[in-house]
Amino acid sequence: MAAKNLHDRVLVVGGGPVGSLTAYLLARKGIPVTLIEAEPELVIDYRASTIHPPTLELLEECGATQAMIDQGLICPTMQYRDRRQGKIAEFDLSALKDETRYPYRLQCEQFKLTNWLYGQLREIPGVDMLFSHRLTDLSQDDHGVEVVLDSPDGERRIKGDWLIACDGGRSTARGLLGIKFDGYTHPEHFLVSGTTFDFFSAMDDICSVNYTADPVEWYLLLQIPDMWRIIMPVDPSIPDDDAITDKYIQGALQNLNPRDEPYDIVVRAIYRVSQRVVNTYRNGRGFLAGDSAHINNPLGGMGLNGGIHDAVSLTDRLIRVWHGEAGDAELDGYEVQRRPEAINHVQSMTVRNKKLMEERDPVIRQRNLDEWRRIEADPTLAYEHMMETSMIASLRRSGLLS
Ligand SMILES: Cc1cc2nc3c(=O)[nH]c(=O)nc-3n(C[C@H](O)[C@H](O)[C@H](O)COP(=O)(O)OP(=O)(O)OC[C@H]3O[C@@H](n4cnc5c(N)ncnc54)[C@H](O)[C@@H]3O)c2cc1C
Repeated sequence: MAAKNLHDRVLVVGGGPVGSLTAYLLARKGIPVTLIEAEPELVIDYRASTIHPPTLELLEECGATQAMIDQGLICPTMQYRDRRQGKIAEFDLSALKDETRYPYRLQCEQFKLTNWLYGQLREIPGVDMLFSHRLTDLSQDDHGVEVVLDSPDGERRIKGDWLIACDGGRSTARGLLGIKFDGYTHPEHFLVSGTTFDFFSAMDDICSVNYTADPVEWYLLLQIPDMWRIIMPVDPSIPDDDAITDKYIQGALQNLNPRDEPYDIVVRAIYRVSQRVVNTYRNGRGFLAGDSAHINNPLGGMGLNGGIHDAVSLTDRLIRVWHGEAGDAELDGYEVQRRPEAINHVQSMTVRNKKLMEERDPVIRQRNLDEWRRIEADPTLAYEHMMETSMIASLRRSGLLS
C-alpha cells in the first residue's frame, strides 16, 4: 500500500521548464505542490527551442502541446550540410505521418513553455509558487523531506512528502542528496547568437533546421519564430566577454554568410556544454529530473525533451502512489525507464552528432558525408534515421510512448 502522506505536499525545486511542468502535471491531478525557484521571475534565455514529436504527443492531454504550437514554428524538414560542399542530405519528417500526429520539429523557445506553465499554475488551488527562494539544504526521513531555503525574508524551512529536484545542470539538490554526476565537459564553449536577418533570402537551398559540418567552424543554423539562431563553437582561449562582442559575432556571421550590411544581433550568450548522467535518479524521497539528472550538447535538441519525458514518467507514477493506486515500488520504475534512455539514446546520439559535425580527418569526414547521402537515398534507412532522431523509436522501446 502507499505510505501515508504526512505533509500533503510535493516540493519541486527549480522553476525552469522541467520543474514547472512537473509541478503542473501533479497539481492538475489534485496534488498540492510548492514550486521553489531561486530567480525572482521567469528566466528568459535562448537555450532549448527544438521540440520533438513524442514530446508533443505526451503533452497533448494537458494542453501544453497546443500552447507551444500556438507560439512556435512548425519545421518538417532538416538538413545536414558541409561548409565547403553545401547541402548533403535533407530529411522530411512528413514521412512519419502514420507514426505520429506531429510529424515535424516544433521550434518554440523554452521560456514560452515555462511562461505558459506559470500561468496555469497560478490558477490551480493548492499551488505555492516561491520565487527568489534558493534551496540551500535538505534532510529526509522515512516520512518526508524538509528543505532549507534562502529567501528575501531570511531562512525558511518547508516540509513535504516528496522532493523533485529540477534545479538544472548545477543542481544543489543533487549534491545534497549525495548523487554523483560523472561525465565530462567539452573544452570549447558554445556561442548562441540570434539575428532577425532572413537567411532564406541569402542561402537559397537551406531549410529551417541546418546542421553544417566543418573541422573548425561547424554551426547549427535554426529558424525560430522571430529570428534565426546560430550555435557555433568558440575556442576556450577566447574570453567569454570577447566572444559576445559585436565585433566577434559580426565576424563569425559574415564568415558564415558575407553581406554588405552588418547583422542586427538580438541574442548573444555563451554556454559550457557537458555530457553527464547521474548514477541514480532517486535517493529515498528525493528524485532528480531534467538537467539535474542528465546534460548533453545541444546537437539534436534532446536535453529539454528528455527532461520533459522525465517529468511525464515520474509524475504518472507519483500520481498513482499519491492516490493509493500503487505502492512505493512503482517509483523505482522511474529510473529503470529513464536512465537507460538518457545513456543509450540521448548521450550516444548527441556525442555522435558532435563528432559528425567537427570531424577533422579528411578521409573520415568524406566517409561521413557519403553515409548521410546513402541514408537519404534509401527510403528505409531514411525512415529509420528519422524515427531515431525524432526520439520516437527510443521512447517506444522504453515504453513511455505507445
Ligand atoms: C545552447 C543550448 C541550446 C539548447 N537547445 C535545446 C533544444 O533545442 N532542445 C532541447 O530539448 N534541449 C536543448 N537544450 C537543453 C535545455 O536548455 C535544457 O535541457 C533545459 O533547460 C533543462 O531544463 P531544466 O528545467 O531541467 O533546467 P533549467 O532550465 O536549467 O532550469 C533550472 C531552474 O532551477 C533554478 N535553480 C537552480 N538552482 C536552484 C536552487 N538552489 N534553488 C531553487 N532554484 C534553483 C534555476 O534558476 C532555473 O530556473 C539546449 C541547451 C543549450 C545550452
